[in-house]
Amino acid sequence: MDTAYPFVAGAVLRTARTYPNLDPATGRPLGDVGRAGADEVDAAVRAAASAQPAWAAATPEQRGRVLTRVGDLVDRDREQLARLESQDTGKPLSQARTDATVAARYFRFYGHVVDAYHGSQIPLGPDVHAYTVREPYGIVGSIVAWNYPLQLASRALAAATAVGNAVVLKPADETPRTALALARLCTEAGMPPGVVGVVTGLGAEAGAALAAHPLVAHLGFVGSTETGRLVAHAAADRVVPTVLELGGKSAHVVLADADLDRAAEVVTRSLLQNAGQTCSAGSRLVVHESVREPLVDRLVRRFAATTLGPGLEDRDLGPLVSPRQQERVRGYVEGAASGVLRVGGGPPQEDRLGGGSYWLPTLLDGVDPDDPVAREEVFGPVLVTHPFVDEEEAVALANGTDYGLLAAVWTRDVARAHRMASALEAGQVFVNGYGAGGGVELPFGGVGRSGHGREKGLAALDALTRVKTVVVRLD
Ligand code: NAD
Repeated sequence: MDTAYPFVAGAVLRTARTYPNLDPATGRPLGDVGRAGADEVDAAVRAAASAQPAWAAATPEQRGRVLTRVGDLVDRDREQLARLESQDTGKPLSQARTDATVAARYFRFYGHVVDAYHGSQIPLGPDVHAYTVREPYGIVGSIVAWNYPLQLASRALAAATAVGNAVVLKPADETPRTALALARLCTEAGMPPGVVGVVTGLGAEAGAALAAHPLVAHLGFVGSTETGRLVAHAAADRVVPTVLELGGKSAHVVLADADLDRAAEVVTRSLLQNAGQTCSAGSRLVVHESVREPLVDRLVRRFAATTLGPGLEDRDLGPLVSPRQQERVRGYVEGAASGVLRVGGGPPQEDRLGGGSYWLPTLLDGVDPDDPVAREEVFGPVLVTHPFVDEEEAVALANGTDYGLLAAVWTRDVARAHRMASALEAGQVFVNGYGAGGGVELPFGGVGRSGHGREKGLAALDALTRVKTVVVRLD
């Protein structure tokens, strides 16, 4: 494979240093990656600074046309992008294809809505004309995680460029290839060189240099709470705004009257998708004591029937992204001081999967809510359950971690569903489901340690623009 070098000012930028990238399914090299440092980041930011004013001066319709063309090009290259994504991350090919479809949707959605996005007029009386204008920040720095590289790059690039920003994106160390391919498609679609730059490299080097760059006026970060803190500090030092999309420990609350078959199907999918490496994974099951056994039984059967294999084989579950991630999952599962292991609990024993960072779908039943496996983000296919007897206890359990990204309520009682939706501390609450397609249109983000600010939907455009108020005396 070719070395994945940064893409700056519409062209490849060779770095002096590179680092190897490994295939999570085999542990073998996938190819080298350019290791950008402060100089390459500076070159990308300066290219963005040159290109941004003209891009911001284009009409929303003109920018929107370019964005919708990017969506069409993503569709054209869907299979190629999906294969790159599957190899880099280890995720099953069909999930990577879905990611490419969602990526195209981001560009179309923001390409369409930006044409109807504007400020407002404030009626102060006949002698004063007051109005607000939405202005781009200028250069947005975006640092993203490895679990959904193509989706995360698309949601950052599409929303920020739609409203006239230029973006320098730092993909995760392990998964740079689809972000680079996407940046090339942006150029092919007609985005002026520099409007989108991608700096590959290590977090502590390229990521830190981007967060600290004096010309970056807004920082978007998707990743762990620990790194989010560092990025927020760097932003605070320069007094620039941030949107932080961090970890999660989201709960399904299943009440006694829930449709258990449907809940079992959706809980399984919400956890096992991407081998549990999803910020919004439904990794806790808060279940009414009266339906605990039948629901856990259904889940155990589903988990046990799951097939595993390399991403390109397109089984239910791929490997975890790296041996390091596998060790992290092992630490939580083997370190659990409570709960009964009902299924899984380790890597598969099949010889043909040797060398890969796999982990079997795991269910720990009746875990103490204070156990680290129940409080912290495992980021693997591991579900913990907590039984409850009344609604108040269910809410306390669901809200009982430092995180608050998603939550789901399973009940046929509409009033109770709304009551619970109001009581749950999470950025999104689903009733009798979990997610809605790619969720492109739905504001997304967390409370507490899950972060602050919102991406996706129209809320992203609010976050990526600043409001200017203009007041004109007419007398
Ligand atoms: P991470 O925090 O290790 O890395 C995220 C990004 O930050 C990478 O690009 C990395 O290179 C960069 N980085 C690392 N150190 C840095 C530093 N000192 N300065 C600047 N950048 C630095 O996270 P990860 O392990 O890649 O991703 C997993 C985490 O991401 C999980 O916690 C998951 O929940 C979270 N996540 C959240 C969302 C969301 O939308 N809320 C989506 C996906 C993943």
